[in-house]
Amino acid sequence: MSLPPKPWPVGHADLLEPLVRRVLAPNPSPFTFTGTETYIVGAGAEVAVIDPGPDEPDHLAALIAAVGEAKVTAILCTHTHRDHSPAAAPLSALTGAPVIGCAPLVLDSSGPRADAPFDKTYAPDRVLTDGEQLTGPDWTLTAVATPGHTSNHLCYALEETGALFTGDHVMGWSTSVVSPPDGDMAAYLSSLDKIYTRTDRVYYPAHGPQVDKPRQLVRGMIGHRRQRERQILKLLGAGTGTIAAMVPQMYKGLDPKLHPAAGQSVLAHLIDLEQRGQVTRAEDQWSIRS
Ligand SMILES: [Zn+2]
Repeated sequence: MSLPPKPWPVGHADLLEPLVRRVLAPNPSPFTFTGTETYIVGAGAEVAVIDPGPDEPDHLAALIAAVGEAKVTAILCTHTHRDHSPAAAPLSALTGAPVIGCAPLVLDSSGPRADAPFDKTYAPDRVLTDGEQLTGPDWTLTAVATPGHTSNHLCYALEETGALFTGDHVMGWSTSVVSPPDGDMAAYLSSLDKIYTRTDRVYYPAHGPQVDKPRQLVRGMIGHRRQRERQILKLLGAGTGTIAAMVPQMYKGLDPKLHPAAGQSVLAHLIDLEQRGQVTRAEDQWSIRS
């Protein structure tokens, strides 16, 4: 999807519903769309901040201005990619609020790890597990464990209004990148199934517009992943056995800057198919298991 026309409202607090405000960070890119969207939850004296975003002085100043007289009582991150969590520590220092939410990521140091995009400084005061709740005077947030995009990904459900903050699990503008070894396609698909069974009214993703028909979008995404899988099996059947050869055929028209990310999603599908016994690999050559 191409970018909407500039200027998009960086640094401005948009009121989406009485309990939810959104502040866009100034970090647009092919991976972040118009930038990371930070959400402020609560209309009273105590608020929570979800996905504080990159550690950028302008963004922190915009968040502090948006919060105003209220007290920040929790800083929550959906996961620890560098466009989501680095502002947690400085925002905590400015407001005194604890960092609560997703677990820090444990990355294996051996082998080629996809750790460059991760925020290694993230150090939560408290980790939430699936179903755990955090409350304020007028809000209740429930953690919904949704591993796949990253192993530590959480969505947060706002019980009072039926909103789900989906982070990068489901976005309004693009499918999520699932990048092994931390990204896991089987986990991602079961996390899509998991939120498909919920009855959320609206999704507020970390990138792109709000999603007003959540189940329709999730159903489409599950179908899209199944279609990608069929495409891969077809290419393998026709003798195309490397990811480098598959990507241009599968992602026609994609910005070449995003080819490596697309390749990671193809790898994630191949690993899932390998674990299910359908394909095998020899070095970088993949084939249908006979
Ligand atoms: Zn992410």
